[in-house]
Amino acid sequence: MIKSVNRSMEKKDNPNTLIVCITGDIDDFQTETIDCLDRYFSVLHNYNVKGTFFITAKAAEDYPDRVGHIVKHQHVIEGHGDVHVAFYQSVPVQTARLKSMKKTFSTLFDLDIDGFRAPWYKHNYNTFLALDNAGLHYDCSKKRFEIAFKGIPFFQKRYMYTNAYPICKPALKFLATAYNTYCNSPQIPYKITSRVMEFPTLGISDYTLIADPRGPLFRPEDSEKIGKVWIECLLSLKQRGGGVMTLQVHPGRLSPEYIDSLEYFIRNCMKLGAVFSTPREIRGNYVC
Ligand SMILES: [Zn+2]
Repeated sequence: MIKSVNRSMEKKDNPNTLIVCITGDIDDFQTETIDCLDRYFSVLHNYNVKGTFFITAKAAEDYPDRVGHIVKHQHVIEGHGDVHVAFYQSVPVQTARLKSMKKTFSTLFDLDIDGFRAPWYKHNYNTFLALDNAGLHYDCSKKRFEIAFKGIPFFQKRYMYTNAYPICKPALKFLATAYNTYCNSPQIPYKITSRVMEFPTLGISDYTLIADPRGPLFRPEDSEKIGKVWIECLLSLKQRGGGVMTLQVHPGRLSPEYIDSLEYFIRNCMKLGAVFSTPREIRGNYVC
């Protein structure tokens, strides 16, 4: 099904194609216990959605049983660096870090790592060259916005929960477009090097809505509000002609207290006609 979706996207004959990828970073497995993962997976399994988890090699070495648990549930494991340190170094240093990360997963778990997200999204252009050198095929370190809530005073605290929102919405959408154009984060994944595909990730993550002191600091009882923010962004993407939304939802922060936000989001994605995939599957179906 995804194959035909991608061909359609390339031919641009089905502009309303809407694909959602659920992803979550795991830095150290301190909060991602088996119970936390199971609560998160139960939502994914209810809707037959495959998740993608970007895990540091250090965390995987420290908690091999939890990596095994994710594999057993048939979700996708990708790389989040050798250790949870920004990728700002030279190309040779970043290449060595990525090769070391890949080697850890292949040696310990026989897993072939294909994709990457930089810790805190902190990367530079060298990262893309290093990914290419290290034999990785996609990246999720860039951000993209559908509506500029974040970084805009007043809206950063309230999102769409204010009377001013309907009036300001066109301007907020315009600002998001300006950001995406400036940062080269289009709505459809693209090749950032000859072999590496970029999947920009929605800049409004669970961190932004729950933990960022500049944000709304939503509480567990506000979980539905969180899901509605993500749906509002997806609706905006649909109105722009569709594409791929890659969402960052950390299991360690969301599960179990905020898990209803993910449930609300997935249920309403389906109502909007979105299909679920993984960056690995989409990348694999492009002819490169
Ligand atoms: Zn991280």
